[in-house]
Amino acid sequence: MHPAIPFNKPYFSGNETRYIEQAVRSGKISGDGLFTQRVHQFFEQELGFRKVLLTTSCTDALEMAALLLNIRPGDEVIVPSFTFVSTANAFVLRGANIVFADSTGLNPNLDPAALEGLVTSRTRAIVPVHYAGIACDMAAIQAVADKHGLAVIEDAAHAIDSYYRGRALGSLGTLAAFSFHETKNIISGEGGMLAINDAQYAPRAEVIREKGTTRTAFFRGEVDKYGWVDVGSSFLPSDIIAAYLWAQIENLTDIQQQRRAIWQRYYSALEPLANQGIGLPRLPDYATNNGHLFYLVCRNLAERTALIAYLRQLGILAVFHYLSLHKSTYYASRHDGRALPWADLYSDCLVRLPLFYELTNAAQRRITDAVLDFYQTY
Ligand SMILES: *Cc1c(COP(=O)(O)O)cnc(C)c1O
Repeated sequence: MHPAIPFNKPYFSGNETRYIEQAVRSGKISGDGLFTQRVHQFFEQELGFRKVLLTTSCTDALEMAALLLNIRPGDEVIVPSFTFVSTANAFVLRGANIVFADSTGLNPNLDPAALEGLVTSRTRAIVPVHYAGIACDMAAIQAVADKHGLAVIEDAAHAIDSYYRGRALGSLGTLAAFSFHETKNIISGEGGMLAINDAQYAPRAEVIREKGTTRTAFFRGEVDKYGWVDVGSSFLPSDIIAAYLWAQIENLTDIQQQRRAIWQRYYSALEPLANQGIGLPRLPDYATNNGHLFYLVCRNLAERTALIAYLRQLGILAVFHYLSLHKSTYYASRHDGRALPWADLYSDCLVRLPLFYELTNAAQRRITDAVLDFYQTY
């Protein structure tokens, strides 16, 4: 029997613990220390983001976005149903009503063709999720947003180092939220980042992140004492978290090369399944692939259940996600009742295969052979 293949194994370069020790020895381990500044500089100077702020999670970055937009009870926010709960929850916390959008048939991203029909006089924002790091149709989404004066908040949790027509995902909307949760490409255990692409939100973002105070400006020497000026919370991570993340960022190129290679091997090995009606990831010409996750779309729920069980019995852990949010225990009774067939299809039929830096060629061969064997007989 072969050793089990986990679904995920967090990447670790070895420098994470060295940098954490450095942060500890520096005597400053609260937020916005040396490593946080390095991370901010990397995103702003190397990757060209206008302004970024590390947060304790992507969820928190989304909550900051909702606060920055002054989302109020009764406002409507358009969110895909096929996403993680935080995409919607961040706005629900401010009293917003979520108007769920369906996915496309091409891939699980939000379908811009249906957007116009979802906009009302109460709509405030659209929240596209770049599923699997594959860009949404941003021109079409932005056109609807511009026509109605709506903000676009990118949920870029999957989308580090991926591009829409050559522009970095997370740099396109009014604001964007990244995740460094241990299941993402670069990680800090828990962690996230808010990208502020519309400069008017930058000063207030710093205040909201620091408990509603001017502390950030104070530490830059811009004000001589700091005080309470707005609402806010504690959204900034300890520098210990940033130290971990910095070691990951130093290896970003290598991590991405490896993940893309694994993704490509999956695609090449499993592409023949398309002839049997199995769905594979599809990239529009405007999108890149960042190797965040590899999925198949089975033909029905029974088939997916059987495939996951077959792999598990061979020691291979494949998983599914997300349960359509419009059918969730919390939101089903609040949803307006529209059917969202594509979201339901991905919810029932999408399966993710193991994808992590240390996945060896031999282990990956075992996975692809097992999937092909399953479909020989199923
Ligand atoms: C992981 C994820 C989040 C949440 O990220 P956290 O950093 O765990 O808060 C939000 N949206 C999507 C699409 C995600 O995959």
